[in-house]
Amino acid sequence: MRKSEKLKFIYDRLKELYGIPECPLKHETAFQLLTAVVLSAQCTDVRVNLVTPELFAKYGTPEKMAAAAPEEIAGVIRSVGLYQTKSRSLHGLAAMIVERFGGEVPRTMAELLMLPGVGRKSANVLLGNAFGIPGFPADTHVQRLLTRLGVASKRDPVMAEREVCKNLAPEYWTDFSHLLITHGRRCCSARNPECGRCPLRQECKFER
Ligand code: SF4
Repeated sequence: MRKSEKLKFIYDRLKELYGIPECPLKHETAFQLLTAVVLSAQCTDVRVNLVTPELFAKYGTPEKMAAAAPEEIAGVIRSVGLYQTKSRSLHGLAAMIVERFGGEVPRTMAELLMLPGVGRKSANVLLGNAFGIPGFPADTHVQRLLTRLGVASKRDPVMAEREVCKNLAPEYWTDFSHLLITHGRRCCSARNPECGRCPLRQECKFER
């Protein structure tokens, strides 16, 4: 099977299994999704969803977040890991959105990468989930699955992103990332992959 065929096969099998998962980070606007994505670094989505209702009620727009002191933001997100660094990032990115982008979250990879605390994975989450612009968010979990399945050759999320974007049609990118993350959580964990019940085992290169 060529790599492009294999990626589409994996996408189809995971879609059969899980349907199309929704973005797990609760949000109503692009800015709120951006806020949640920054908070989710090295933190569970469940934990992020516990703090964002209060955070969005107080600082749910770029203008309100930019007007708040990082210490005030930190007071609301204290239960999230790295909360001091993240409060400075949220304040900084909100100020940049207000001052440089007219209060609107930018819609290009290059502009999103200018924002404090935003890397390629976060930018791709925004593009795909907030703006409907194809993006393939790849983190270490997505990269681990793609490497085990033999479709990413390098142990690097950016290289995994390139492999997928080169070999799978753009309309599948955003959902494919959600599906891989879901499969990682439910079946293919880092330490204890449950290969015996995995529908992808015939295609998988992972050796235990
Ligand atoms: S066969 Fe095992 S290693 Fe491969 S994707 Fe399934 S659970 Fe993961």
